[in-house]
Amino acid sequence: SGRWAKAMAIVNELEDKCGTPITRLRHVAEAMTVEMHAGLASEDGSKLKMLVSYVDNLPTGDEEGLFYALDLGGTNFRVLRVHLGGQGKGVGKQEFQEVSIPPHLMTGTSDALFDYIAETLGKFVATEEEGYPFPGRDRELGFTFSFPVNQTSIASGTLIRWTKGFSIEDAIGEDVVGELTKALRRNGLDMRVTALVNDTVGTLASGRYYNPDVICAVILGTGTNAAYVERANAIPKWHGPPPSSGEMVINMEWGNFWSSHLPLTEYDLALDTESLNPGEQIFEKIISGMYLGEILRRVLLRMAEDAAFFGDTVPPKLKIPFILRTPDMSAMHHDESPDLEVVGKKLQAILEISNTSLEARKVIIKLCDIVATRGARLSSAGILGILKKLERDNITASGGQKSVIALDGGLFEHYMKFSASMESTLKELLGEEIANSIVIERSNDGSGIGAALLAASHSTYL
Ligand code: ADP
Ligand code: MG
Repeated sequence: SGRWAKAMAIVNELEDKCGTPITRLRHVAEAMTVEMHAGLASEDGSKLKMLVSYVDNLPTGDEEGLFYALDLGGTNFRVLRVHLGGQGKGVGKQEFQEVSIPPHLMTGTSDALFDYIAETLGKFVATEEEGYPFPGRDRELGFTFSFPVNQTSIASGTLIRWTKGFSIEDAIGEDVVGELTKALRRNGLDMRVTALVNDTVGTLASGRYYNPDVICAVILGTGTNAAYVERANAIPKWHGPPPSSGEMVINMEWGNFWSSHLPLTEYDLALDTESLNPGEQIFEKIISGMYLGEILRRVLLRMAEDAAFFGDTVPPKLKIPFILRTPDMSAMHHDESPDLEVVGKKLQAILEISNTSLEARKVIIKLCDIVATRGARLSSAGILGILKKLERDNITASGGQKSVIALDGGLFEHYMKFSASMESTLKELLGEEIANSIVIERSNDGSGIGAALLAASHSTYL
């Protein structure tokens, strides 16, 4: 019928606009490399901030003692207590607690957010079984803060802007460690922050602790970002003292990457315009967990409005932004039942759409595939950009050295078709010979442990 043809035209156009043929991915990777150079050359030289992390030594295995970490990322935050064995004995007992952030605190005041965090942390500290082994000393904390920060030392930095649905005006420009420390004092906690790290930097640190071949870390969770180890003399904008290691970890903030080679659609443009941060984080908005389900919702809404895809009326729930979450999209995408039962149930439960035909459900899976595949393939192109910058994308330059990419985040961890597409795309981009020496390794909650490791190596009691 005419409706069906109209719907298929929308699907085909989406597929065309989201296309990521290998040549396009190569252009994206090349653009990433170029922007990395520009961001390292000067402040505001690129949309890629290429932030200097002040981490010039990664964990060695000698880190020892009881340390805390706090991981504030997107929707949840985690508090951790880690016993570090020292001298290659590894990480001993690890305890953690995960708490969701009440949505009103994501757009409220700095004090309200940090008081909530400090309170939670206080309760967690109170569950210490053996007590703190160093009476009279403050407990030491690694603070993983996954938003763009202008680092001013290893344990301080000012917030540049919020991303991922956060918008707390009075925190922008403030030292986030200062804000947390004030809340710790208000809540009577004897604790001090000895390392402020981005989640990518934490993941890189814990990745390196377990595997010396780890050279970069990528997060694919609510948002997306990457960090890697750069040669200090390849950072022209750095005017501080040259690090004795000769290296510096760079937090790329690649979520804000933009290139004319990115395949963007009308849905992406509308999502961006209506977002809390229009014009920013465009790479993140087509790749990461916060947005994939929302892109799918926008396509479905268009199909309902313009092609009566769900019948004569537009399902009202379909008009609600962010109602369709990426985990639900993932569940539909992985549905292998003959009548696509999961797709039917999700449509019913989330969007109150009933009696969908098998044909319609198949179309929805196809949409999931288009949107997820684009994100996954672009993520791999981003990784290729880093490998190119480090000259590890070809056998000759890399000398056969192994390169390991530590990957963390709920999207990569749980969305199997996404991670599978990423891994096969990376192989496709690299070619067989070099692909064997470049490995993606899943990092298990690296961002928190990494912060604890860096808190230990920057302890004020050393
Ligand atoms: P954060 O990025 O907030 O620090 P995580 O790394 O745990 O936290 O990632 C959480 C995100 O991962 C969610 O916002 C969601 O987008 C995505 N995610 C979680 N579970 C799934 C799933 N089953 N399928 C697809 N995406 C998922
Ligand atoms: Mg996280």
